[in-house]
Amino acid sequence: MKKAYLFTLTLLLTCTISFGQYDQYFTDATMRLDFNHVGNADEEHIAFDQMVNDGIWAGSKTILIDELRLGKYFFEVKDIKTEEVIYSRGFSSIYGEWETTPDAKKNWGSFHESLRFPWPKNKVNVSLYKRNITNGFDLIWNYEVDPKHHRAFVAPVENHYNSFDVVVNGAPEKQVDIVVLGEGYAKEDMAKFKKDAQRFAEVLLSTEPFATHKNKFSIRAVETPAPHSGVNHPHQDIHTRSALSVTYGAFNSERYALGYDNKTIRDASAAVPYEFTAILMNDSIYGGGGIYNLYITAAVDNAFQEYLFVHEFGHHFADLADEYYTSASVYEMDGKHLEPWELNVTANADAETIKWKDIVTPDTPIPTPWEKEKYDEHSIATQKKRVEMRKAKVDEKVMEDFFIKKRSWDDELLANMKYSGKVGAFEGAQYKSKGLYRSAANCIMFTRHDHFCPACQRAITLIIDQYTK
Ligand SMILES: [Zn+2]
Repeated sequence: MKKAYLFTLTLLLTCTISFGQYDQYFTDATMRLDFNHVGNADEEHIAFDQMVNDGIWAGSKTILIDELRLGKYFFEVKDIKTEEVIYSRGFSSIYGEWETTPDAKKNWGSFHESLRFPWPKNKVNVSLYKRNITNGFDLIWNYEVDPKHHRAFVAPVENHYNSFDVVVNGAPEKQVDIVVLGEGYAKEDMAKFKKDAQRFAEVLLSTEPFATHKNKFSIRAVETPAPHSGVNHPHQDIHTRSALSVTYGAFNSERYALGYDNKTIRDASAAVPYEFTAILMNDSIYGGGGIYNLYITAAVDNAFQEYLFVHEFGHHFADLADEYYTSASVYEMDGKHLEPWELNVTANADAETIKWKDIVTPDTPIPTPWEKEKYDEHSIATQKKRVEMRKAKVDEKVMEDFFIKKRSWDDELLANMKYSGKVGAFEGAQYKSKGLYRSAANCIMFTRHDHFCPACQRAITLIIDQYTK
């Protein structure tokens, strides 16, 4: 169904601002522009809420323009006088997923969101764009930001939480800065939170390409104690309230965990300099989520916690698409995009023009033959069994053992094919068995594997550069 936009202007080419212009336009603080994003399957509206000083600017002061243009949404900050674009960034949102669910066909939804950019010295125009079916962007909101507005909280957010450094390697403007928040940790769980935050850092920074660039990462943690241990599980009748209101069961999917209380999550994050947010859930039940430039959630006491940390971080950090296709997806892809914008999946299996053409392994056919039939047969049988086991409410440990076996089976098959380890175009990706391709036989975005494929690694490296140069 065609969406009714407030405006339908096509995004024009942006110009980049030159080195040294940061000080001309911005102070050292971060502006958080808060708004409400409201709509249903047919229309969407944005309404201003407030501006908040979110502490010192942790992003790059030289790379202010986002040339990668990933994400479902994109915003630009323009100087009012010259209309020059002085900051831009792509992102995705809970709204952007929700609007494709059946709920949005019946009901209106309301979501609080924030855009973060350096605090402007003068009035600026903020333009918010949404991706269209030809992969361009349409303008959906334009707002004149007056940094002296009566609803601008100019005084910085003060850190009233306990926070600690997990690993700090340099000044925030030259580092990728990650904040780790804890959800479902009671006061007496704080020693465990510290250990979990350290484990998250170790796992992430020992996975390539993060490992090669690990001295470009700083990770800090903020304690947000809850009255009780554990996280809310509506589907399993486990009910609790915790500090950030993260809950399993997002979009009525048992294992998808999201927090809708954006203000609280943002205020806690801003206790330390940050660009990326990892919410660790003090829970043993498998689950999590990851949204580009929003946050990840990940359960910490499950056999697959390490996989979850890294897989979800891939979504959040580099907008990596899921490369799997046999399990039922949580939200529905509208299927109209000719070519996915994500850098690790493609609809174009043409050896001359494929988006990762320059890294294809010589003498690898495109599309690349692989044992898809065998893989599909096993995966479909596994999914069927999984549904039966969940219905029977078997113990989490039994589920874990079942998936450990599945992982071994996948690793064995996918590592021992003719084109294993080669870069090509393997059919089956992003919830589609046919017509979409991934770059390698296996990847942490495909199975519960422990490595990123070359296309994913390259995407991650591009983002690291964006925050550290
Ligand atoms: Zn990949």
